[in-house]
Amino acid sequence: MTSHDRDTPPLSSLFQEVILDHYKRPRNRGDMDDATATVHMNNPTCGDEVVLRLKLNGNTIEDARFEGVGCSISQASISMMTQLIKGKTPAEAVTLTRRFTELMHGDESAARDRQLGDLRALAGVSKFAARVKCALLGWNALEEALKDQDSPSE
Ligand code: ZN
Repeated sequence: MTSHDRDTPPLSSLFQEVILDHYKRPRNRGDMDDATATVHMNNPTCGDEVVLRLKLNGNTIEDARFEGVGCSISQASISMMTQLIKGKTPAEAVTLTRRFTELMHGDESAARDRQLGDLRALAGVSKFAARVKCALLGWNALEEALKDQDSPSE
């Protein structure tokens, strides 16, 4: 096994820090006037709730914002997700969703996938089935939001 610095993360405390940082200082949190898609999702088993708003411009996710309440995992995950999908195409966002879902199912190659950026900090969550739902909440909202975009009204 080659130990290319970030590839084999040794410390879960570092990851805890990343998660808490996003929880305490959420990125892209807030309302959006000109959203092209708005999706509300909740995770009753934990009490997490998110509202995701996307602004699609042509084939680009120009903006992504969220509002939400709930545990640190759910809020940190969607905070990181909004950072990651901005500027991406919907198809790229779908690929990232699939990759992150694999990560939550314990896929080791996903845990080393640089595409996922800071989201790899959530890899340890895959060991806790109940928390996987928390981590996937924002991504479920993203899937819904992109579904709405599939049929442009023209
Ligand atoms: Zn939760």
